[in-house]
Amino acid sequence: MLTKQNHQQDILHNLLSDSSPHILVFLSEQYGLRRVPGLSKEALIERILHHLPEEELPLLKNDLIAARFGSLPIDQLVDMALQHADGKQKPRLDQVSPTEAILIEGGPYRWVYTMRGHDVVIDLKQRQLTCDCHFFRFASRQQALCKHLATALKLLPEVYARDVLIDLLVSRQYGGPQTPGWHFERRPAA
Ligand SMILES: [Zn+2]
Repeated sequence: MLTKQNHQQDILHNLLSDSSPHILVFLSEQYGLRRVPGLSKEALIERILHHLPEEELPLLKNDLIAARFGSLPIDQLVDMALQHADGKQKPRLDQVSPTEAILIEGGPYRWVYTMRGHDVVIDLKQRQLTCDCHFFRFASRQQALCKHLATALKLLPEVYARDVLIDLLVSRQYGGPQTPGWHFERRPAA
């Protein structure tokens, strides 16, 4: 599908642009492109995008994502997702203790918690994050988490939490206008 491809290309292009020329040279050789000395960064990127077989582009994208996010612990991924997309400092948040969270519905694709009177939904299939707190009204415009969603993500099985957080951070930091991002909803779906 064309849109899907554009979206992949946007992310891949932005990930490559965020890599140093040395890494681009290294990757070109890793993926079997002959070394051409003296290419500019932009030329290296164009060469990778146009000369790699179509089916290897997703592998390259995954390599670049793993290199950036793969070794980060969950707590650090959550902290990054709490930062607002425009890079402004997040307001200081009180911690919500995980013991205050009550699981209403649990996995494997949708989790619902209630904590401190707020309903929190994490839906992997719809790619939707929901909280009805006041803070999330502002945070959601910046595609950033509130403390309730942050707490809920730390309670999820790690493999799913990593999926959500990395996917969220990649589409927020490296997505283009075409990239389908996560939906930040302020009201739980009926
Ligand atoms: Zn909240």
